[in-house]
Amino acid sequence: MAKYVYSFGGKTADGNGKMKELLGGKGANLAEMCLIGLPVPAGFTISTEVCTYFYDNKKTYPAELQKQIETAVAKVEKIIGTKFGDTKKMPLLVAVRSGARDSMPGMMDTILNLGLNDQTVLALVAATNNERFAWDCYRRFIQMYGDVVLGVQKAPDEDHEPFEVVIEGLKTERYQNAEMEDTKLNVADLKELVARFKKLVKSRTGKVFPENPWDQLKGAVGAVFGSWMNDRAKVYRRKYGIPDEWGTAVNVQAMVFGNTGESSGSGVAFTRDPATGEKVFYGEFLMNAQGEDVVAGVRTPDPVAKLNGIMPHAYKELEGVRKTLESHFKDMQDFEFTIQDGKLFMLQTRNGKRTGVAAVRIACEMVKEKLIDWKTGVTRVPADQLEQVLAPIFDRAAVKSAKVIATGLPAGPGAASGKIYFNADRSVEANAKGEKVLLVRVETSPEDLRGMIAAEGILTARGGVSSHAALVARQMGKVCVCGAAALQIDYHKKTLTVGDKTYKEGDFLSIDGTAGTVYAGELKTAPSEIIQGLLHGEKSAQESSTYKNFVQLMDWCKKSTRMTVRTNADNPEQTANAVSFGASGIGLCRTEHMFFEGDRIDAMREMILAETLEDRQKALAKLLPYQREDFLGMFKELKGLPATIRFLDPPLHEFLPNDKESQAALAKKLGVPVEKIASRVHSLHEFNPMLGHRGCRLGISYPEISAMQARAVFEAAAECQKAGVKAKPEIMIPLVGFKKELDLQVAVVHEVAAQVQKEKKVKLSYLVGTMIEVPRGALTADEIAETAEFFSFGTNDLTQTTLGMSRDDSGSFLPHYAESEIVKKNPFATIDQKGAGELMRIAIEKGRSTRENIKLGICGEHGGDPDSVKFCDKLGLDYVSCSPFRVPIARLAAAQAAIAAAK
Ligand code: PEP
Ligand code: MG
Repeated sequence: MAKYVYSFGGKTADGNGKMKELLGGKGANLAEMCLIGLPVPAGFTISTEVCTYFYDNKKTYPAELQKQIETAVAKVEKIIGTKFGDTKKMPLLVAVRSGARDSMPGMMDTILNLGLNDQTVLALVAATNNERFAWDCYRRFIQMYGDVVLGVQKAPDEDHEPFEVVIEGLKTERYQNAEMEDTKLNVADLKELVARFKKLVKSRTGKVFPENPWDQLKGAVGAVFGSWMNDRAKVYRRKYGIPDEWGTAVNVQAMVFGNTGESSGSGVAFTRDPATGEKVFYGEFLMNAQGEDVVAGVRTPDPVAKLNGIMPHAYKELEGVRKTLESHFKDMQDFEFTIQDGKLFMLQTRNGKRTGVAAVRIACEMVKEKLIDWKTGVTRVPADQLEQVLAPIFDRAAVKSAKVIATGLPAGPGAASGKIYFNADRSVEANAKGEKVLLVRVETSPEDLRGMIAAEGILTARGGVSSHAALVARQMGKVCVCGAAALQIDYHKKTLTVGDKTYKEGDFLSIDGTAGTVYAGELKTAPSEIIQGLLHGEKSAQESSTYKNFVQLMDWCKKSTRMTVRTNADNPEQTANAVSFGASGIGLCRTEHMFFEGDRIDAMREMILAETLEDRQKALAKLLPYQREDFLGMFKELKGLPATIRFLDPPLHEFLPNDKESQAALAKKLGVPVEKIASRVHSLHEFNPMLGHRGCRLGISYPEISAMQARAVFEAAAECQKAGVKAKPEIMIPLVGFKKELDLQVAVVHEVAAQVQKEKKVKLSYLVGTMIEVPRGALTADEIAETAEFFSFGTNDLTQTTLGMSRDDSGSFLPHYAESEIVKKNPFATIDQKGAGELMRIAIEKGRSTRENIKLGICGEHGGDPDSVKFCDKLGLDYVSCSPFRVPIARLAAAQAAIAAAK
């Protein structure tokens, strides 16, 4: 018989920590914690296979499931010594929680205190001798169950949750204070709430609240499986690339109570600081509260260290757990605990989410502590998180003169300025208009996810650093300050008031998520310590531990990588930056970009608009010195590293003077009638410039253009070499689909090379290769490789031409494709492995069939995308090339790919 239910408790478990696919992260780790002897309340996990079955079979369950659940409940009853639905003695109450393979904080549903009804609540009263506690549990249960399972939720036109409205109504009625704390409600109040909640359920759903605990359990399990497909879970999965097929498990676990009185409490803690990575016990707890109160951010919790003063015994035990968890799981853990009447229980542990800065620090320090080896250290930093490490901070001078209007908890590091918006939808709208947005909320809930994605930063008035909002923000690399209690937010008026100052929606604020400060107005930002240390050579920045850890990590990457990382750079400054980041050469110099600036574009336009060879030669003669000078500067910065220089590939629409004003200005400069310019622009007009007269097609029509470029390259190389610095140009011909195109261009290059070497009396070494960026080039790569000494995959064009989707226009329809899950990720950001990626594979195989050791690289934007870098490693490329600031990210991804391949 298939096994769908896995029990745990009493220091044994059916599952273990390795079974995350089947039991989800939470279920697997609950089992593992039991096995290593930590105090875990008994329970069982319904496997992810049941979730898959549920969705494949019209939301029904396998026939065997009910029986297996009953057996598992009986086991829990035996371990705990209580009975589910007992109306005489202490009843067994359970928590029902979701648990996917990867944790999705706050995205799915949880139900606590399940098993309570009008009879069992009385048994609970008798058994605990605590009437208030029992009725508080009951009203919480109805509230959660009503919301999650029965769907009694805020309608779009309502401002508040309906159950909260009932609570506030009662508080106003009985105490004239809607804001008073829930803990002040007495037994009579709670009983009244239970009655009113049930009425609310009846009026909203037309059904009576279920009294039978087994019916309650069935409903809760169904709701948790159902929540796998709720909107916010789907949005979260899309953002983090979690496949729908994984499904969630359901964990049913005996309740322990953090709300039995002043010797109880609940908390969330991290074995190290998840924001900075510092090795301190970090976390929060609330006395006399259930776990949900801590993460929901409704009450602001106390730091965990304070527990030492209140319950030294429990604190000591917790410290022990912290050590056990790290030495067993060998990673920073994020765990939830409850103390019931002085006794500690562990409810969950998982690898803690952390900021990029913390990830680097924890990896480096755990290696130093010999908890992990350095290769494991390299795999511990998600490559795209390095982006956060390189994120800007506020300019120091700007901070000095800025006004701090409030402080809160530093929940997501970095600096952000933006216009404030008070709800998620308006944040999304404003961001779509190109505004920088700060999402400001009293407390955020997972429904705010879209707004958080759109925002530069998030600011809340309530909540702690382990609230879901803060976790999610941190993981997204968003700057976040939470619990800034001085903020008074009026959603209705769309204002935020601090003291006597009021800010309206659309006003600028700035937040520092490292310090937890909120500033009025827009502040200037400054680069991170790593940027300051690496690119600007600032001594004080180089002393910082952030800088040192980063350098350490990059050293490990160097030791373990197979592929190298080059950069896409078009001028000496970009080249210098990339070299500082560890680039091992230039993988793409887009020579047309050298003409964007100043007067240079005029010479370029003159060249494009020339109608005769003579006119073109004249314009080319102006372009040559610009190019030579830039190439020389880049060769010098490279100090002997190779430079792939691509010949002109100007999509004409980017360079032509299309409006009357610029046509008139150019006519004046060139001393020709404006009509002449206008008519030439008209005749050059292309319907589809991206597929038009660009790439090598230009050099085929006008070989003199390629000859000029070759001359600029070789003259610069000769000069550089004479100055004692080796130059290694690799000339790259773009958009080749036919071997003959390449042959014609290569002939021009060789001819000019011979001329320059003779004129300058130097010996130059260089390569000539091509980009593979149209399908025909990939499919005939064997022929092309007879001439090409290297291939570089231009995956921007290869994606465009393989998918038949314009790279410039796809933004208007790709979001619909993502929503309909036609594409899992944007194919212009992450290589479409089955389409464009398959053409790469074919090109490599064919290319190697005629030139065994052909050098292979990639220079499309995908070269800086971690998933694509890993794919390139699998294909066996020699290097990837990406923009300078992504070089560290690509280096890390490349090292991780090599380490994974060696396993
Ligand atoms: C490419 O097509 O991938 C490429 C690198 O060239 P460009 O983006 O300049 O077309
Ligand atoms: Mg291209």
